[in-house]
Amino acid sequence: MRIAIVGAGLGGLATAAKLVEKHIIDIYEKESVLGGRALTMERIEENYRKLIAKFEMANAFAYPSLDEIYGNEYKIDLGFHLIGGGKRGACVKALKEINASVDFIGSRLGYIGDKIDYPMLSSLDKLKMLPRIIQLMTSRKKTIEEMKKMSMEEAIDKYGKGKLKTVLKIFPRLITTVNDLGKISAGETFFAQRELMGGHPVVYPVGGLKSISKAFASYIQKNGGNIFLEHEVKNVDIDDGSVVGIDGKEYDAVILNMPVQHIFKVVKEKHFENSWVKKIKSLYGTGSMVSYHVLNEIDKKLLGKSFVFLEKNDGFVGNELAGMIDFKMASQHGLLSPKKKYIVQSYVICTPEEARNKRKWDELAEAIDKSMEKLMPDYKKHVEWSIYNAIWHLDGVAKTIDNEKPSVATPIKNLYIAGDSVNSKGIGINCAIDSARLIEEKLKKLKSK
Ligand SMILES: Cc1cc2nc3c(=O)[nH]c(=O)nc-3n(C[C@H](O)[C@H](O)[C@H](O)COP(=O)(O)OP(=O)(O)OC[C@H]3O[C@@H](n4cnc5c(N)ncnc54)[C@H](O)[C@@H]3O)c2cc1C
Repeated sequence: MRIAIVGAGLGGLATAAKLVEKHIIDIYEKESVLGGRALTMERIEENYRKLIAKFEMANAFAYPSLDEIYGNEYKIDLGFHLIGGGKRGACVKALKEINASVDFIGSRLGYIGDKIDYPMLSSLDKLKMLPRIIQLMTSRKKTIEEMKKMSMEEAIDKYGKGKLKTVLKIFPRLITTVNDLGKISAGETFFAQRELMGGHPVVYPVGGLKSISKAFASYIQKNGGNIFLEHEVKNVDIDDGSVVGIDGKEYDAVILNMPVQHIFKVVKEKHFENSWVKKIKSLYGTGSMVSYHVLNEIDKKLLGKSFVFLEKNDGFVGNELAGMIDFKMASQHGLLSPKKKYIVQSYVICTPEEARNKRKWDELAEAIDKSMEKLMPDYKKHVEWSIYNAIWHLDGVAKTIDNEKPSVATPIKNLYIAGDSVNSKGIGINCAIDSARLIEEKLKKLKSK
């Protein structure tokens, strides 16, 4: 088949890598760089504000001002990024399938409570929780299906005691980027946990996120696929309910890689049933505040580690803010921090509405700062610069009970969706990359018919 992929985000690139040996692949990317939201910048350029705005983000705070930070030779991504699931996550698996040589720094998770626990769970904690965890992890699929309708709030009332309660409060929030436990499905959470058992729970690619897009792109090009940068697709051509091409060029199939709510910019709504358009437009994503702190001194014990926190705050949906502080970029092994400078990346979850609301920004930044202070009480003395960005489209579609993620197949024949909006496994990067597997399955079925 001749296949056009619209967007060179990780979803589009992973799908191209899966299909390129059997099909003719053209990828069209409107920006001049690969990776979409998984973008690594070589330095903070003067167009920084404009660039992040393209990805539904705004700079909330910068110390000193952005004008003074511009030009700094630090490689940073669009914002905090860690990839879940280590070796079992879709990202690491997909790169292994193409023999890509991307290294990852992995770690366990620590907890910033009244005191710092690293790892979060001691052997004794695990032993105490073991019977309950085994019961939950080994639940039959049917039980998990039933639990999908149960909210995490109910599950915590039922199972949450002692430290297990804290784990049950944090984990679902991290795997959905949603603070409201009433909206997170217990089945989904336990299913995700089961998938991710073993290995490092979180990893970060050496050299930044662009190592991932580069690896996919090089595999695609080596196998004859084309990537056209700075090429915005304006229209998907459809005839009688089937895809016929894009912008007048013929293709047998088209794969759209943008967040699903944006697909109507390139496919006219009239080609779908009203109910489908309405459903897709109603789907909501997730939000956060992300920050980078560059320190000139650091507690070396923190390097390479990642810590989660929960901050009580009744002013936000869910009443608690969950977040993470990560020191993998700070590790010299990460190849991102210049010598004797340490980049610390953090994020705190909020709803997309809260992320857009400037009045909420102070409290979100405070939640990050408080946790930084608990880890390194004198960190403020060592800050060279820091930036805080609000983002209201972190994940394409939030994984919640009331927000059913769509299939990779659309109602139009041979029109597919790749990326983090669809009902694939995992969250964020893993979800985007795993969508490639689902599209490949659909295309195989199509052929065998
Ligand atoms: C600040 C921030 C922090 C995050 N943190 C994490 C994290 O810690 N862990 C995690 O797993 N995930 C995280 N995510 C989410 C993760 O980055 C995304 O889930 C993932 O990168 C999405 O990939 P995608 O392929 O679905 O979409 P995108 O990356 O959005 O790619 C879509 C591409 O399509 C292109 N495009 C759109 N329209 C057109 C057109 N008409 N023509 C041509 N090209 C077009 C866009 O330019 C873009 O390159 C974070 C996201 C952000 C923004």
